[in-house]
Order: sequence, then C-alpha cells, then structure tokens
Amino acid sequence: MAPTHCAILILMPDARQQTHNSLGVGLCADCLHARRLESARGSVFILCNLSLTDPRFPKYPRLPVLSCDGYKKKP
Ligand code: SF4
Repeated sequence: MAPTHCAILILMPDARQQTHNSLGVGLCADCLHARRLESARGSVFILCNLSLTDPRFPKYPRLPVLSCDGYKKKP
C-alpha cells in the first residue's frame, strides 16, 4: 500500500537553496530521483520521480527523509 502522507517544504526566499541542501530535506537534497518544484508563491516541493513508477515511494516524501531504499546520490 502506498504511503498517504506528504509534506510541503515552505521556505523563505533567501533560505531556499541553503535549506534544500540541509538536513531539513535529508537524503532528497542530493538524490538523483528528487525534483525540486517551486510555486509562484515561493513554496518549494520535493517530488520523488520514483513515485511515478514505483508505488512504494510517495510523490511528495515526508521530510526530512533520513532513510530511503531508492536513494541514489547525484553524480
Ligand atoms: S528516492 Fe528517496 S531519497 Fe530519492 S527523492 Fe525519492 S524519497 Fe527522496
């Protein structure tokens, strides 16, 4: 069964990049499968691309992700 939880990361504009790379996001910060989305109002979302093909992974993972079977470090 796919997890039903999700999380939205809302950041202040000047802290976005710093927090994206920090423990606030966890493993998704440097995962090959993570896609960073930003709304017109400045909200930042982490979308897990693995969720598109594997129901074990939530579309919007609960942050911070501290352990994940799909994690693959960006080259
Ligand atoms: S595979 Fe795991 S670590 Fe990578 S983006 Fe998805 S939830 Fe985050």
